[in-house]
Amino acid sequence: MTTTTAPANFTELGLISPLLARLTELEYQQPTPIQAQAIPSVLAGRDLIAGANTGSGKTATFALPLLQQIAELQSSKAQVSKGNFVTGLVLVPTRELAKQVADSIKSYAVHFNGAIKTVSVFGGVSVNTQMLALRGGADILVATPGRLLDLISSNAVKLDKVKTLVLDEADRMLSLGFTEELAELLALVPKQKQTLLFSATFPEEVQTLTQALLNNPVEIQLQSADASTLVQRVFTVNKGEKTSVLAHLIQENQWRQALIFVNAKNACNHLADKLAKRGIAAEVFHGDKGQGARTRVLEAFKAGEIDVLIATDIAARGLDIEKLPVVINFDLPRSPADYMHRIGRSGRAGEVGLALSLIDYEDYHHFKIIEKKNKIRLEREQVEGFEVNEEITEALLASIKPVAKPEGTGKKNKKKYKDNW
Ligand code: AMP
Repeated sequence: MTTTTAPANFTELGLISPLLARLTELEYQQPTPIQAQAIPSVLAGRDLIAGANTGSGKTATFALPLLQQIAELQSSKAQVSKGNFVTGLVLVPTRELAKQVADSIKSYAVHFNGAIKTVSVFGGVSVNTQMLALRGGADILVATPGRLLDLISSNAVKLDKVKTLVLDEADRMLSLGFTEELAELLALVPKQKQTLLFSATFPEEVQTLTQALLNNPVEIQLQSADASTLVQRVFTVNKGEKTSVLAHLIQENQWRQALIFVNAKNACNHLADKLAKRGIAAEVFHGDKGQGARTRVLEAFKAGEIDVLIATDIAARGLDIEKLPVVINFDLPRSPADYMHRIGRSGRAGEVGLALSLIDYEDYHHFKIIEKKNKIRLEREQVEGFEVNEEITEALLASIKPVAKPEGTGKKNKKKYKDNW
């Protein structure tokens, strides 16, 4: 594995202000790994092959550069899409995905004030409304292959001026039997174009397609949290008992190489002290440690000389750590994306990894947001001997402020939060 030097914020990716403003509104605090790695190359016009699942942030990876390229085209020419032409074509396997992707694109585009027209077309609904929507063309068309071919054959849309082609979930598209439709469509788009291909897996059909279609592409394969090797669990605990529960779990399970996340540098030291009092030796890893010290701790942890490492989110991204057997959220991460970064540290190849979150009632609401954003839903469990003594009722939850935005959502507060890593 390599240490990534990918940009840590959206501004560094080279995105323009209408997009940056929208990302701030959407509270995207930093690019996901695929966004950080791919967006600069896509903006530079390169073809891309990306191994990425839903949940990785792949939609924004193609949608943001696509919108930017179209906005730039519009400012350089009076009209981009005259007639029934399309500039950006996104092919997806299902109608649900077509709607979802088109909604995301429209949402990212709000600060272009209607200048970028996005249309989605898919089967199972009347073709007439879609024909009407395509009158005058579209800047971006999100389509399932079958319905798109129907619309082309009735002259409702033309692909001769496509500048960017995106194949989203290419493996699903091919496994759903769209191979012939895809071949027909690919014959209709210009040879000279940018192509971006996203696929969770790379079976032979996808490899054949990429070889035929892509020109010297940038290749990005994410080390994603794989459901088959990663078990996520969440334990509800009494307020004030997290440390006892954690110590109990570490001792009972005799975990080796457990990575524990907290939200602030001083919380690392504080927790290490409390664990030490319970006979558990732990090292800390955070932004106040010099690079030399950080490297040494990490080396010792990797070598198995340290069983427990307590870290801030600085350890969640871009670090050269092998996959670990256990990752524990002692504090929940502020952003849902960070939850994925953190748990992605667990689940070594071929071995089952465990990603555990400890929540008390004050974390309850925030954990729900994390689940919702990451499209997961975990059963609330309790630790034997540490059962919660207060029922988590709606009234109790209503009495606390959501912890998602503990200090407001302003830039300053986010920076303050990150400064604590
Ligand atoms: P996708 O993998 O494209 O389906 O995206 C999964 C979810 O992550 C969607 O709900 C996006 O809105 C969200 N998302 C994408 N990028 C980011 C980011 N950089 N920060 C926070 N959330 C994001």
